[in-house]
Amino acid sequence: MARLSDPITILKGVGPTKAKQFANLNIFTLGDLICHFPRGYEDRTQLITIDQLEADVPACFKAVVMNTPRTNRIRKGLDLTKVQIADHTARLTVTFFNNRFAAENLQYGKEYVFYGALSGDFGGYGMTNPVFEALDSPPVTTRRVLPIYPLTAGLTNAAILKAVRQALAVCDVPEEILPESVRRAFGILPAERAYYAIHEPTSMAEAEMAKKRLIFEEFFVFSAGLALLRASRAQKTVESYVNLNMQPFYASLPFALTGAQRRAIDEIVKDFRSGAPMNRLVQGDVGSGKTMVAAAAAYCAVGNGKQAALMAPTEILAEQHFSSLSRLFAPMGIRMALLTGSMTPKQKREVREALVSGTVDFAVGTHALLSDSTEFADLGLVITDEQHRFGVAQRSRLSAKGTDPHLLVMSATPIPRTLALLMYGDLEVSIINELPPGREPVDTFLVNESYRPRINAFIRKQVAEGHQCFVVCPAVEESEDLGMKSATVWAETLEKTVFPDLRIALLHGQMKAGEKEAAMASFARGEADVLVATTVIEVGVDVPNATLMVIEDADRFGLSQLHQLRGRVGRGGSKSFCILTSHNRNPDTLQRLKALCKTTDGFKIAEEDLKMRGPGDFFGSRQSGLPAFRVANLSMDLQTLKDAQAASARWIDTEGTADTPEGQALRSRIAVLFDRAEGTMN
Ligand code: ADP
Ligand code: MG
Repeated sequence: MARLSDPITILKGVGPTKAKQFANLNIFTLGDLICHFPRGYEDRTQLITIDQLEADVPACFKAVVMNTPRTNRIRKGLDLTKVQIADHTARLTVTFFNNRFAAENLQYGKEYVFYGALSGDFGGYGMTNPVFEALDSPPVTTRRVLPIYPLTAGLTNAAILKAVRQALAVCDVPEEILPESVRRAFGILPAERAYYAIHEPTSMAEAEMAKKRLIFEEFFVFSAGLALLRASRAQKTVESYVNLNMQPFYASLPFALTGAQRRAIDEIVKDFRSGAPMNRLVQGDVGSGKTMVAAAAAYCAVGNGKQAALMAPTEILAEQHFSSLSRLFAPMGIRMALLTGSMTPKQKREVREALVSGTVDFAVGTHALLSDSTEFADLGLVITDEQHRFGVAQRSRLSAKGTDPHLLVMSATPIPRTLALLMYGDLEVSIINELPPGREPVDTFLVNESYRPRINAFIRKQVAEGHQCFVVCPAVEESEDLGMKSATVWAETLEKTVFPDLRIALLHGQMKAGEKEAAMASFARGEADVLVATTVIEVGVDVPNATLMVIEDADRFGLSQLHQLRGRVGRGGSKSFCILTSHNRNPDTLQRLKALCKTTDGFKIAEEDLKMRGPGDFFGSRQSGLPAFRVANLSMDLQTLKDAQAASARWIDTEGTADTPEGQALRSRIAVLFDRAEGTMN
């Protein structure tokens, strides 16, 4: 018996070349192969008669070969083989192109099963290139439900099918991880049967059952993992904070906090007092003032003699948080430090020394803060900003730093409930559903190229009034994908030909960290009128004087991303605008973009986005911190998700700690999954 971890090269017919092709599909082991699930099926179980065939509808039928196949060379490289076949209802002429196998194997007088569709032909109906098998041979491509696999260059469906079949024959399928009680409650196939049936279903209904089981399994593993994480954290005890007077902090702010901000802070303070480590998500639309909530939490932790750390997904954002929070905290005597990857080794060393010796109270940084070489004297609170970029694995790694620090995660992207359940199943949630007073919604317009002169005039007008503009492009450089504006080229065009009299700056992700920071800082200081940028400006950067955002080729972005970008303006007191440009004529695309013009409700937009693009692309590629689900589709399998969630919660409560084989298997599967999730961090 082979093992799931054995390489696929132990299979017959899989040499180095084939192995490389399989590698393109991320298939290296027998286990990978068995978990390479079909993307669909063709029902070839029904046998009909020739007279029942319909044009262009492929079907299976039995027929006898009525003559010896004749092959003609039409020209070099094109051989035509013709053969007559018949059943008791009709005769049919079948044509094969360049098919030696058919020419040599179809025997006069023998009965076969064919799978093909009729096509209109000069002399009536015929059939080209049907699949066939001798009636007395085992059903491989006919008389069955045929799985259709995701393919890659060089690998045919048949080749994958053959390999999968061999793998299933030589090794056991992944072990059962769903407790019997759960399977019974939800009418779920056992693992053994499901893994066979997903590849070799006897009927479409069985294929469906298998798929349902595997989707359920994926959701179950993930949500059980989150539930375990949550349960294990809940068991921990930490010292309660006693110094909870927030008044000095509130008094130092230049504005009054909104009711929603105060509520979130109260919830955090309650967590600090509870004696268990906090695990809280603060979710609020862009511009709702999450930073102040984070600051309040840090203030409280430091006031109780602990260190706090705030982690941002980009250097720019880390630097901005650092400078704005320093302004707030330095006068209070709170000692701050910045730690980012691009600092010199010497600078980093100094900061790390200060952190471990306790001479820094509050550190702001990128995930350099997470690295093993960063240690804290007494880390009490970890905050992550724009949390969707940090996966579950990072969260658990974070809480492993120090002695069970409180964890506060902040997300600006309103997450559809479905996804929130999955991503944040281990967290309590505070929602900031209120914008600071005086914010007007950003007026948003969708226009095509004919509006270019008006856009330019509008930019000019904003600048003349002393304001600044963002122009966001989907690409950095001139790309092969023509028709997609590149920031580099567009900045040059604006500078040289459109606005020679204005100050144009450029910012994109391929610039060095220092350059990015300099460009952003200088724009924030008002030293440029127009900042041409890529989506690097998506997160967090605050330029209250910017009142206009033009997003070029807006159809290239996801709705949530556009909403997020749009949140970069309208942060000061002045009326702000967002102009989406698009050459796209697809009515659905335009409809989607128009929806964005009409609503400023991030949650609605997010639901729409999830429906359109699925969770994988929801946050841009691979940034959700979610594991890649193989079978499940979050927008379609909502009910299964809910079932799995309920089942895993019940399981944790009742038998979660019992030492059953399924329990052990489940726990090790969770470990693998969360480990893999870590790999998806940007
Ligand atoms: P986000 O939730 O998107 O992270 P920020 O924390 O960056 O939002 O806040 C956006 C802007 O609103 C900042 O300039 C911040 O100083 C300001 N702000 C935050 N809270 C308030 C408030 N209660 N009243 C007025 N302005 C506020
Ligand atoms: Mg923010």
